[in-house]
Amino acid sequence: MSFVFSPAPVASVPVLGQAERYPVRRIYCVGRNYEEHAKEMGFTGREPPFFFLKPADALVVVNEGETGAMPYPSLTQNFHHEIELVVAIGTGGRNIKAADAEKHIFGYAVGLDMTRRDLQNDMKKQGRPWCIGKAFDHSAPIGPITPKAKAGNVNEAEIDLLVNGAVRQKSSVAKLIWNVAETIEHLSAAWELQPGDLIYTGTPEGVAAVVAGDTLVGRVAGLGTLTVKVDPAK
Ligand code: MN
Repeated sequence: MSFVFSPAPVASVPVLGQAERYPVRRIYCVGRNYEEHAKEMGFTGREPPFFFLKPADALVVVNEGETGAMPYPSLTQNFHHEIELVVAIGTGGRNIKAADAEKHIFGYAVGLDMTRRDLQNDMKKQGRPWCIGKAFDHSAPIGPITPKAKAGNVNEAEIDLLVNGAVRQKSSVAKLIWNVAETIEHLSAAWELQPGDLIYTGTPEGVAAVVAGDTLVGRVAGLGTLTVKVDPAK
C-alpha cells in the first residue's frame, strides 16, 4: 500500500518491565466522576457516567523518572490540571458486564486530563461540544503503563497532585462515583472497546490553574509518578 504522504506514527506508551510498547487507539475520558469534584463544578447527585474523547496524538508520554514538557496552550487564560487514574484496555468487547471488566484490562497509568477551563465553560454555556476545551494538542500527559498484575489494588489507591511541591489534589480512587469496572460496563455499551483504548477515569476535587514554569507531579499509589513541566506558549 502507498500513501500520498507518510502516515502519522502510532501513538504509544512504554510498559514497565518490558521492551514492547502499548499502542494507543483511542482516549476515552469520564466526566465528573468524583463527588467532591462534581460539587466544585456545580453539580450534585449521582448521574449516569458521561464520556468525551481526546485524540491519541494529544498524549504527552513521560518515561519513568523523567520530566515531560507540555507547552502552555493557545486561546486560554485558565489552564487546569486534572489528575486521573488511567485504565489501559488489553482485550476489547462490547456490553462488558462490570463483573467481567477486570479481564479486559491490560494495566494502569497515571494521567493528566489537562483542560482549557475557560473555553470548556464557554462551550457548556452555549451547549456546544467540549473539544476545544478538552481535546487540544498536548492535553493528555501520561506515565508508563504498569501491567495489572504488578499494580496492586488500584481501586483503593491514594491519588494526588502537587504543583511546585504543594498539594493541590488529594483523594482515593475508592471515591470514584463509577468505579473502573462500572465505567467499562457503561463505556462498552456505547462503543465497542478495542485493545489500545485508554480510559481517563475522572479527577477528584482541587482542580486549579497552572502557568508556564510550573512543575506538576501526579501520583497514584502503586503506579509511580508522572512529572510534567509547563513550558511557555509555543
Ligand atoms: Mn477529567
